[in-house]
This record gives sequence, structure tokens and C-alpha cells, in this order.
Amino acid sequence: MTARLFDNSGAAISLFDDQDRLLYGNTQYYDLICHPQGTYPYWPDIVRDNYAKSQGLIIGADDIELWIEAALAKRRVQAYRQFEVDAWDGRWLLMTETQIQDGGLLDIGVDITEAKNITTALKQEYENALVKAETDLLTDMGNRHALERLRNILMSKGRHFQVTALMIDIDQFKPYNDTLGHLQGDLCLRQVAQSIRNSLRVSEAYPIRLGGDEFLVLMLGAPLSLAQQVARKIRSSVRKSAIPHPTTGSGLITLSMGLASREIADSESLSLLLKDADDALYQAKRSGRDCIIDPQGCSES
Ligand code: GH3
Ligand code: MG
Repeated sequence: MTARLFDNSGAAISLFDDQDRLLYGNTQYYDLICHPQGTYPYWPDIVRDNYAKSQGLIIGADDIELWIEAALAKRRVQAYRQFEVDAWDGRWLLMTETQIQDGGLLDIGVDITEAKNITTALKQEYENALVKAETDLLTDMGNRHALERLRNILMSKGRHFQVTALMIDIDQFKPYNDTLGHLQGDLCLRQVAQSIRNSLRVSEAYPIRLGGDEFLVLMLGAPLSLAQQVARKIRSSVRKSAIPHPTTGSGLITLSMGLASREIADSESLSLLLKDADDALYQAKRSGRDCIIDPQGCSES
């Protein structure tokens, strides 16, 4: 009667004596450890047997004897403990282990596979949503949310970094859009984004679309000379793309760029760096566009 009750519970129930010999197991428990019903093995022998045959509960250990020794040391320290385990058959179990009188142990394993799978799926969904929220849909680059996360990561390091910011803006993009239409404008933004991406070899360079026709590349630890090279490369890549522009003097899409470099120690210094780069970009626009302005105020066109 009690045995049927335990079987119907759906849980894997076992009872061990003070020497860790199995006194009782219900059908689910014998199924879990892949042993025939009516046998009463010692717990370490169950573990050894299951480990050798890759069945029962999964044990991530190179040396099973060391693992058993450590597990035995933990087995009767607390009156009650709870932990999650996964089995070779793909199930996850929530195990509870309760000490009973005379040193015996009552183990109950409840199948939590479904809940675990839902949690894993939700976590994955959350990760995906996070990536999506930080990605610019049009260009596939990071957006302002990505910049904020980068800012938080930088601040959490508690170190000083030399960071170079390259601010990029398409010249006379409004007339381009107005003349050729928004769809053509989107295509142009994608092409420029691709040129930026293709010009970045430094692993610590983060391209971001700030909005509209404005892009930012943050380069961590890169010397200014390298950032200047990157800026020139982007410029020549866009030139090579030769995207026709109906109203510029050259008849092609061109870029204005501003470079700034600073030691970043806190959030404020990063904001100052972005402002410096923005000022340099503004200067590039005032200097007639299609040029790069660096921190020394040197213009390259
Ligand atoms: P400047 O040389 O001074 O930069 O002149 P500009 O005409 O490029 O001026 P500005 O940078 O202010 O113009 C940005 C234009 O970008 C305005 C808008 O028509 C266009 N724009 C902004 N977002 C998008 C977008 O997502 N897609 C398209 N196709 N156009 C956009
Ligand atoms: Mg512009």
C-alpha cells in the first residue's frame, strides 16, 4: 500500500541506512539508477556502476573515487539539503536529502525537466532580446544602448584606458535622401556601415550607429596613429564604393570625421571624449566636409 503510494508520487524515493546501504527504493528510484528491483547495493557502488556505464545521474569527475570521497563527506553534514542533478536520460531532478534517525538518509528526487527547459528557453530569449535591443536594425551595428553597456563595462573595470573615438557623419545626406528617396538612403547607410566594418581590423574596435547618418567607432587601447589609419581606410573604402550623390561637388558620397583620444577613468571622461570627437567632426564640416580632423586640429582631405 505504502509502496504503491510512493510509486504513484512520480518521485524517485530511496532510503539508505547509516552505512549507506540501500534499505528501500521505489520503482522510479530503481529505474533512475538502472538497478533491478529487490537489490540493496551500497550508495558508493551505485555511483561507481552508473559512472562506469554512463547511466543514472551524470557525474562530471575525472577521478570517481575522489568524487565519492568528497560526496560522502558532504552527505551527513546537514540535517537537510537540496540540490539539482541531471541524468543521462536527459532529465533534471531536484533532490532533497533528509537525515532520519540512526544516521539514515531519505532521498527524494522530483523531475523538474520541464521547468528547467522553460527556464533555459527564457534565459535564451532574454539574451536574444538583449542583443536585439542593442543592435541597430538597419546596419546591424551596435546602437546607443550598446554604447551605454560599453560605458558600464569600461567603468566596472576600475582601470584607466586610452580610448580613441572616431565620429563619422555622411556629408549632405539630407539632400541625398530628399532626391533619391528614403529607401535609397537606407541602402547608402548600409553600404557606409559595411565600409566602416570592413576597415576595422583591431579587435578592440566597437562600431556604433549613433542615429541618422552618424556613426562612432570606439577603439580601446589603440594609439592615435592606428585610429588615424582606420579613419583613412574608411574614407578610401567609401570612395572606392563610389556611391553617386546628385548634389555634391565630387558627385559621390563622402564622409566627414572627427578623432579624439583620452585616458578614460570615469563616465564623465568618456562623455568628454565623445564631445571632443563631436567638436572635431563639427570642425571637419566647417572646413568644407570630406575630411578628417584629429586632436591636433590637423585636417586631412
Ligand atoms: P551634413 O553634411 O552637415 O551632415 O548635412 P546632412 O544633410 O547630412 O545633415 P544631417 O546629417 O543633419 O542629415 C541627416 C539626414 O539623415 C536627415 C535624414 O533625412 C536622414 N536620415 C536619418 N535617419 C535616417 C534613416 O534611418 N534612413 C534614411 N534613409 N535617412 C535617414
Ligand atoms: Mg550628415
